[in-house]
Amino acid sequence: MRKKYIPDFLFSRAIDVPVSFYLEHNIKAVFSDLDNTLAAYHEPLPSQEVKDYVAALKEQGIDFYIASNNRGKRVNEYSKALGVECASMLFKPFALFFKRFIKSRGLSPIQCAMVGDQTVTDVAAGNKAGCLTILVEHLSEEKPIWTKINSSRDDRYRKKIMADKLSVDLRSGGKK
Ligand SMILES: [Mg+2]
Repeated sequence: MRKKYIPDFLFSRAIDVPVSFYLEHNIKAVFSDLDNTLAAYHEPLPSQEVKDYVAALKEQGIDFYIASNNRGKRVNEYSKALGVECASMLFKPFALFFKRFIKSRGLSPIQCAMVGDQTVTDVAAGNKAGCLTILVEHLSEEKPIWTKINSSRDDRYRKKIMADKLSVDLRSGGKK
């Protein structure tokens, strides 16, 4: 398995990453995947829990962006309801968007984090862009057909990351 698929940290859900964790790592901007990371595929709008979480980040000066491979309509509606900027149809693992965006905001990649539920898209894009990467568990088992190929590779990589303790696993108190 290539290094680009290995996240720095493992958490259960995106909203379980404490605001203090980002502060400790000097993170100014968090890019988050949408589907199965913040919401299940069938959920069109953000939950109150997600809204509260993003508000808590903003309060500490941390910007939150949705970075999704899904189509504009779904991503725009969800992001608008959450009150955050978004980018859709990103074709992650391509990282060009992230590199350009980070530069345009005058940030350094190490001040940015990418969180998502897929090694082959989210983690790979974040690593390529030089961000801190966080892999979370899939919010639900529901997976559209077009994600099938990526998802079987992702399952294999995920198992290897867990078995070989390749990332810092903060789901169970930081054991590596
Ligand atoms: Mg996803």
